[in-house]
Amino acid sequence: GAERTKNVLILMSDTGGGHRASAEAIRDAFRIEFGDEYRNLQKRVIFVSVITDLNTCHPTWFHTGVNRCYCPSEEVANRASADGLETSRIRVFGLPIRPSFCRAVLVKDELRKELEMDPQLPAVLLMGGGEGMGPVKKTAKALGESLLDKELGKPIGQLVVICGRNQTLSSTLRAIQWKIPVKIKGFVTQMEKWMGACDCIITKAGPSTIAEALIRGLPIVLNDFIPGQEVGNVPYVVDNGAGVFSRSSKQTASLVARWFGPESEELKKMSQNALKLAQPDAVFDVVRDIHELAEQQGRSKEQSICSRDNSASQNTQA
Ligand code: UDP
Repeated sequence: GAERTKNVLILMSDTGGGHRASAEAIRDAFRIEFGDEYRNLQKRVIFVSVITDLNTCHPTWFHTGVNRCYCPSEEVANRASADGLETSRIRVFGLPIRPSFCRAVLVKDELRKELEMDPQLPAVLLMGGGEGMGPVKKTAKALGESLLDKELGKPIGQLVVICGRNQTLSSTLRAIQWKIPVKIKGFVTQMEKWMGACDCIITKAGPSTIAEALIRGLPIVLNDFIPGQEVGNVPYVVDNGAGVFSRSSKQTASLVARWFGPESEELKKMSQNALKLAQPDAVFDVVRDIHELAEQQGRSKEQSICSRDNSASQNTQA
């Protein structure tokens, strides 16, 4: 009932950046949607799971003891029901992304000024999840060459590298003498701004990074994936026309140079495809659905208390 506030406990593994990003997304969306309504502990706990893999994932996520299992895509939902989870417990809203990604109005020109980037040159964002994984250094170096017009001695693009918690990477990159404008960052907290200031992204196949890039309409070059959990994210992006997969740093760098030159139409088309796939409201759909469950539970508890009052001899446990 409304007189009683409720508490939400979010359990996550603080590895990489994706789990924390989705956990914070859900917390923020609860605050935006329900303010102070969620605080105190409850006697009976609703137990839900939020899956953050876009396609293939480990079957332990499909635990049948959950009240709800939130799947980010139909592919995952199909796997869940094939594994024996009742379809009535499955919901598909998309991968929960921090509300700052979908609620803020971001203007590229202003972001570039704020982030001290070149106002004109097309920009590529290079990253590798919360830990700065994958062939980031090699790719950055290759872009340093490919985004320079050798004849004119002028850059045709600029580069932002977000190294996350990988400090070796950031200090190595900072020591390089770049011939194009380059920004090298450690762990950033305002990812939506960096993505909003750029025109495409190169990343390992991390699901949160992919979902965020789709919301910002960034065409994606996937240059790596964590075996097992991230492999399915590759066809999700490529088959939907929102990006390409390339493990070769040289090929990636020359592709980006073409996107910033003769193949700009291709970049635009992929950007539109990315926006079509984006599900910015997923996090709000998830918290509203949890809220509905909490309300239902409140009602059924009142009912069972009523029935206990009516038949005192019966042992009706809530
Ligand atoms: N991230 C961030 N700041 C950084 C680097 C990464 O906020 O400097 C966030 C990124 O926006 C995304 C998450 O960390 O939400 C990375 O998750 P993903 O699933 O892509 O990969 P993981 O790091 O979990 O392997």
